[in-house]
Amino acid sequence: MAVEKLQFQAETKRLLDLVVNSIYTNKEIFLRELISNASDALDKLRIESLTNSELADDSAPEIFIIPDAATKTITISDNGIGMTRDEVINNIGTIAKSGTKDFLDKIRESSNAAAQELIGQFGVGFYSAFIVAEEVELITRKAGTDSAVKWTSDGAGEYELEDFNKDSRGTTIILHLKKEFTDDDGEYNFTDVYQIERLIKKYSDFVRYPIKMNFETKGKEEDAPTIEIRTVNSMKPLWTRSKSEISQDDYNEFFKQQLHEWENPLEILHVKAEGTVEYTALLCIPKRAATNLYYSDYEAGLQLYSRHVFIMDKCKDFLPDWLRFVKGLVDSPDLPLNISREILQQSTGVKVIGKALEKNILKQLSKMLKDDRDKYLEFWAQFGKSLKIGVYNSMFDNKAKDSLKDLLLFQTSKEDKFSTLAEYVERMPDFQKQIYVAPGKDAAAIKNLPQMELLRDRGLEVIYLTDPVDEFTIQVLNEYAEKPFQSITREDFELDDAESQKTKAEVEEIAKTQGDLLKDVKEAIGGNVKEVRLTSRLKSGAVCLVTGEGGPSLSMEKTFAAMNNPLFKATQILELNPNHAVFNKLQNLHALGKDAPEFKNLCTTLYSLALLIEGVMPDNPAELVNKITELLTK
Ligand code: ADP
Repeated sequence: MAVEKLQFQAETKRLLDLVVNSIYTNKEIFLRELISNASDALDKLRIESLTNSELADDSAPEIFIIPDAATKTITISDNGIGMTRDEVINNIGTIAKSGTKDFLDKIRESSNAAAQELIGQFGVGFYSAFIVAEEVELITRKAGTDSAVKWTSDGAGEYELEDFNKDSRGTTIILHLKKEFTDDDGEYNFTDVYQIERLIKKYSDFVRYPIKMNFETKGKEEDAPTIEIRTVNSMKPLWTRSKSEISQDDYNEFFKQQLHEWENPLEILHVKAEGTVEYTALLCIPKRAATNLYYSDYEAGLQLYSRHVFIMDKCKDFLPDWLRFVKGLVDSPDLPLNISREILQQSTGVKVIGKALEKNILKQLSKMLKDDRDKYLEFWAQFGKSLKIGVYNSMFDNKAKDSLKDLLLFQTSKEDKFSTLAEYVERMPDFQKQIYVAPGKDAAAIKNLPQMELLRDRGLEVIYLTDPVDEFTIQVLNEYAEKPFQSITREDFELDDAESQKTKAEVEEIAKTQGDLLKDVKEAIGGNVKEVRLTSRLKSGAVCLVTGEGGPSLSMEKTFAAMNNPLFKATQILELNPNHAVFNKLQNLHALGKDAPEFKNLCTTLYSLALLIEGVMPDNPAELVNKITELLTK
């Protein structure tokens, strides 16, 4: 077949531009990425040959690296699984991950330094080759087939594919290095055997397959140099060493290598157990949530080893789904080498290990919360949502709920800072019997709710529920330290102090003297509102909308609608402030008769305004604008 020219998928091309053009402080990283891919390819071959005996042959797995000053190239070869032509197109020309577009948009908006950090979220793996190479050739032959293909690209949007001859299975990648990376006087020379040897030791020492290189050994002066092949990496899995022998740097490099991460992890857990089930686990919490963490194409799960031999990737049976952000591996001699995903699901060993790991993770998080609040805040910003989902998922499991509730943080009206529930309760004045919460788009929207004014005046603190999952979490928790949660936007909310009770009684008296007014307002507004009533919860605000007990709130209604569940509707109750001038106006217009257009207009306008406060667009915004302009000019 002739040479075929193909285009990168559009988003791949944009990502490529970014990788190449953003100034990486760390140009060396490409080597670790390509070695990781080679190591994965060897893993895949081993696993496949367990069931396909045709793939098994005598060639021992290895990764070979050849830096070459004469051709200004560095070549990375493996005798792993290789790729078919289609796989090359799908794996190397495409980035199939939800959130890619969002991610790229975010990068475009951010400054360069921030872009570098952001890019760390993304496994750009293979593309890192273009940081150092002006052209990349990839020659690959899939194990069990006899045709090979060569892929060539300068990373500028197109690549070429052609049929090729390759003697044996596996993948060879040749990087034609940019000039600045071949210069002995420059910072880097990736054609230098000893520089490469150092990089392999630094980044890829724990790779489980031998990484080999040719070394020249000079004998006596008159002798020609002889070439010796040496394995550069120690291959000793990090987790088999004792903790005291492992430095923080070792851990960091290990995770980056093992998990294709670009950044050091935020938190590391190294657990060894020798009880009924023996295992070692090396887990981490990444610094940043993956862009697709909450999408269905995110593949959670831990790597599984048995007696240091890789068994499978992305094993989901250890940790509950809400801990999907935890990465790492489990090595246990008590699990059989030849284990299928189905067997794994039934395995009690896996369950025992999983439970213990979950406990360990939560313990470490509560320690972090206690000892290093800043770090916990960093964790929370990335993964707080997962813990809240964890509470929600534990709806029928009080023990699980209890283990999570003290790890939750919420932003509160106390300086808008994040607070645990225990800290909030600790600050509650004696007369306060409930934990006040308020849903809204963000802190600013909640602060401006008319219902907030009185609470602010009384110095009462309110927990902001700004994430759609928050209200669901709170509903599942129901109470904390025997203090029930109470939304200040629910119909049954009232303050317990004497003063509030007094104004409440006054408003009730006023309500008795209003005749048909409230009934007629409700009629004027039409179907959406269940009740119109006077309220003592407003100070300078004229109206507010509250929702009935039990059912969803207005923001939950929005969440349901976004999930295509428009049947879950909030029960709306419109509240009027009898001490506001608008209320007088309403009374006066009502005197014209309940069908007077002036009265009806004011009623519907007030309702629309109450909706707007809640962030709900009225059905007909243009009509609302007309009515308000009319009112303004009267
Ligand atoms: P990632 O490794 O994070 O999936 P990469 O861009 O590094 O992303 O690689 C994309 C895919 O290309 C890999 O998932 C793998 O399927 C394939 N691939 C890359 N390098 C090799 C290799 N040396 N041998 C076989 N397949 C490879």
